[in-house]
Amino acid sequence: MAVGKEIVETLRQTVDRDISLMHICGTHEAAIARHGIRSVLPERLKIVMGPGCPVCITPQGEIDAAVELAERGCIVATYGDLIRVPGSKGTLESSGGDVRIVQGVHKAVEIAEQTDREVVFISVGFETTAPTVAATLLAKPPENFSILSCHRLVPPAMKWLLAQGEGKIDGFLLPGHVCVVMGYQEYEQFPVPQVVAGFEAEDVLLGLLMLVRQVKEGRADVENAYPRAVSREGNVKAQHLMYEVFEACDVEWRGFPVIPQSGLTLREEFAGYDAQRKFDLVYKKVTKPSACICDRVLRGVAQPSDCALFGKVCTPRTPVGPCMVSHEGACKIWQTYHQRH
Ligand code: SF4
Repeated sequence: MAVGKEIVETLRQTVDRDISLMHICGTHEAAIARHGIRSVLPERLKIVMGPGCPVCITPQGEIDAAVELAERGCIVATYGDLIRVPGSKGTLESSGGDVRIVQGVHKAVEIAEQTDREVVFISVGFETTAPTVAATLLAKPPENFSILSCHRLVPPAMKWLLAQGEGKIDGFLLPGHVCVVMGYQEYEQFPVPQVVAGFEAEDVLLGLLMLVRQVKEGRADVENAYPRAVSREGNVKAQHLMYEVFEACDVEWRGFPVIPQSGLTLREEFAGYDAQRKFDLVYKKVTKPSACICDRVLRGVAQPSDCALFGKVCTPRTPVGPCMVSHEGACKIWQTYHQRH
């Protein structure tokens, strides 16, 4: 990666102060860890992780609701990672119910088409996956199908992080996949340096260099280092699909309080497909004492190796918190690539 080496060299010459940059994307963390990017950066440049793993930020109350559905006899279909995420009483995997791993919402609909039983898809993800789910519901799946919407929106969480000022954040590496769908206009409201970045080592390094330059020049722009996939407007058709079916709502994130307008709930016209309404589910606020510091990792104020359980009690085979379960979780990624800082 000759280009990468050049960027690293330029970064070393450019960074002349302590700079802390946050990304909000598990795929970025995986790229950073896989390519050992932290180890080649100048010492004064720090990359911290934000709430970029949709499985990890799903709060225990929503996991408990999914477990309740399995216990009540529904077929629960979801992505592989989610079935091992602990709620307050256990996981979907340990629920003893009929829990099926599917590749996506269309596979869950196929299950519903072949049975009279109720099938609920646990619909987790950021703006990246919500349009596909919306398109599926617009195609009118059978009445025994519904979704538990656990979707989250990235900009409201960024707004919360900036308002909170809990950790030093000099700029954001924006999530490329989310921006493919949503574009980056919405991020222009934030008065901090931001750069949309792709997922190759060179993409990430270029994004970091553009951020560092903004910090040094005192600018706070939204720049695009991923123009081959992302435009300012994004995929307008996908956005319309998403908002035809969903509307924004106030929701809790794991590690965060309720963040205004940061979730997606089904509009009234689609209430029949809303598992929360169909089964009268109430999300309970869970505060369970634990040595797991996923909440702090997700807010970017701690890193996995700060956790006393990391790699000892908590491993990918014996995960204690969601960040060790999901392939987009910081703890699992650090454990996989033996990264420690
Ligand atoms: Fe939680 Fe395990 Fe990560 Fe510690 S290492 S923060 S227990 S997931």
